[in-house]
Amino acid sequence: MAIPGHVDPVPVPRTLPPRKDGRIDLIGLARDEIRMALETAQLEPRQAKLRAKQLWHWIYNRGATDFAVMTDIAKDMRLWLANRFVLSRPEVVEAQVSTDGTRKWLLRSDDGNDYEMVFIPDADRGTLCVSSQVGCTLNCRFCHTGTMRLVRNLTAGEIVGQVMLARDSLGEWPSSPDGRMLTNIVMMGMGEPLYNFDAVRDALSIVMDGDGLALSRRRITLSTSGVVPMMERAGREIGVNLAVSLHAVTKEVRDEIVPLNRKYGIEELLQACADYPGVNNARRITFEYVMLRDKNDSDEDARELVRLIRKFKLPAKVNLIPFNPWPGAAYETSTPERVKRFSDIVFEAGISAPVRTPRGRDINAACGQLKTASEKKSRAELDRLAEEKQAALG
Ligand code: SAH
Ligand code: SF4
Repeated sequence: MAIPGHVDPVPVPRTLPPRKDGRIDLIGLARDEIRMALETAQLEPRQAKLRAKQLWHWIYNRGATDFAVMTDIAKDMRLWLANRFVLSRPEVVEAQVSTDGTRKWLLRSDDGNDYEMVFIPDADRGTLCVSSQVGCTLNCRFCHTGTMRLVRNLTAGEIVGQVMLARDSLGEWPSSPDGRMLTNIVMMGMGEPLYNFDAVRDALSIVMDGDGLALSRRRITLSTSGVVPMMERAGREIGVNLAVSLHAVTKEVRDEIVPLNRKYGIEELLQACADYPGVNNARRITFEYVMLRDKNDSDEDARELVRLIRKFKLPAKVNLIPFNPWPGAAYETSTPERVKRFSDIVFEAGISAPVRTPRGRDINAACGQLKTASEKKSRAELDRLAEEKQAALG
């Protein structure tokens, strides 16, 4: 039996305690679940179906947070709804804006857990970086989120809630596809999305619903550190673009920096990429590669990366991410010359390998810098605690 611990610690699913006022939050429920919630509240089935359709439009197309604005629903019905249901948003603890326009929000769940989301504006697009968990159990050694001990899966409502909140603060209701700032979503905030599969799938299916937020699956990317057994299902049931946090091309180095590699090795991971449903030249897999000085950034590493991509015949591009430092991190950023040389080698082999400019570093919003203040522990202390946890379970 797999022991939850340092390498493969699947977080225990948790349901949120009911709201103190007894009302039910409709955000994050599928259309059918809204209908069922209405029926459970004793609405007659035909009514429930009609109301669910109206509600869906108000919630996800107009961004309503109050039943009072729903003018095509009779007033007494609106009151009836307001007595039983809510349309919530995550609580904002803090909102920051970087000098480069990147915005970061610190959010708090009803049970007092903190998580973050980041919005990255570019000339031709705006990308929302969404969290799937509070913290992350996977402890990649270069990632600040991995040092958080406190981990809880976010609910579908909390995941969709991030998108709703971003739309609120960008002033982008009603939902129309033209001229939006928020055009893309990446599941690259805190957490490993494939360890919270159901909630991520349900949330993204709401985000992609054509009558609502209507983001195309081509504009959504899910990033995984390599949870091999869930990848095929992700392709079939979610169907968004796949990014894989590869970061190293040898067992030795990947075992060290992405501990999950001890469970699902590089070859197995690349085979799962080759088998990912819907992958082709037009929809390539992105490999993320964090550039760590003297660790994974040699010419040899670059050539091995090319060899592996070719061996598995992967339609792939490589995103080179200069390591974003955080206090107490065990690694340094590769020099710009090294990064350039690495990129050139991959590029000369016919594989696109852009260097990603870090965004929002000044507000700790860049890749891998997300960590909430809930708990701060040193790396050594964390390793000790993880070992203890494993010993206790073993
Ligand atoms: N858990 C998922 C998604 C969140 S991390 C995953 O690991 O893929 C998003 C990306 O940021 C991953 O590629 C991750 O490896 C990278 N990353 C983490 N820490 C980083 C750091 N300090 N500097 C640069 N990139 C980092
Ligand atoms: Fe978790 Fe991804 Fe950070 Fe690894 S890089 S600890 S999987 S969030």
